[in-house]
Amino acid sequence: MNQKGGVGKTTTTVNLGAALSLHRQRVLLIDLDPQAHLTLHVGLNPDDLDATIYGLMTDPDASAMHLIHEVRHRLYAMPAEVNLAGVDAELAEAAAQGEAQHILRDKVLPMLESLPAEERFDFVLIDCPPSLGLLTINGLALANEVFVPMQTHFLALQGLSKLLSTVSMVGQSLNPELRVTAIVLGLHDGQTVLANEVMSDLESFLEAARGMDVPWRSARVLQPPVRRNIKLAECPSFGKTIYDYAPLCPGAADYRKLAEAVLAM
Ligand code: ADP
Ligand code: MG
Repeated sequence: MNQKGGVGKTTTTVNLGAALSLHRQRVLLIDLDPQAHLTLHVGLNPDDLDATIYGLMTDPDASAMHLIHEVRHRLYAMPAEVNLAGVDAELAEAAAQGEAQHILRDKVLPMLESLPAEERFDFVLIDCPPSLGLLTINGLALANEVFVPMQTHFLALQGLSKLLSTVSMVGQSLNPELRVTAIVLGLHDGQTVLANEVMSDLESFLEAARGMDVPWRSARVLQPPVRRNIKLAECPSFGKTIYDYAPLCPGAADYRKLAEAVLAM
């Protein structure tokens, strides 16, 4: 999650997920963004689907199992659609009663637990929208860990404390085990002084939290940073992951190494 747009959330969810699936992990991607970029990125067209996360959030009878699409070998996705943008308003009343924050968890967790052993997912990656609204809160209520994609540029750290206090708030009320475990740096221009300064500011910010009783006390910057690579920007419009589109490019290599770092966590 990150309430800023354009920081690499969707690119990372799709390509880290694809890289993990190539490491023989069974991976489920969940698209919580009304823009449905993840859905399109894996080659699904929201207009052709009879069910999406929107129905799951708003129809008490909708089933999570029904939403799972196999998009590649070992890679699955639960799609979004533009109607998701209305969920905050449609569920405002339920949210005020505290009843709309854990809809996703209540639907998805039992489904995950009911899967036979050979169909269990090793990783479920949730792509959050660029806001701290009800959809993101539902994502945080379901998750065990938060990864924060970030760009190493000016103002990168601005907004981070708001993001972290949302995680704390959700942690206290809905999901006490929730931890921020990783910062993923995307769109990285490693040679610039600025990128390196932002990186070291970030390291000292995280270092300062080590002894504190906060959900990000063990967060670290995941290595390597993902370099800026045009192939990563091109592949979504073809409905392809980087491994379908340009498996030998630097972006494919960076996400492969990130997947190895995640497997070692
Ligand atoms: P978010 O989901 O946070 O809004 P995206 O993953 O959609 O961010 O990324 C924003 C834009 O930057 C997209 O057009 C995406 O294709 C592009 N992009 C993301 N990561 C990279 C990268 N490492 N190199 C080049 N372009 C990238
Ligand atoms: Mg996105």
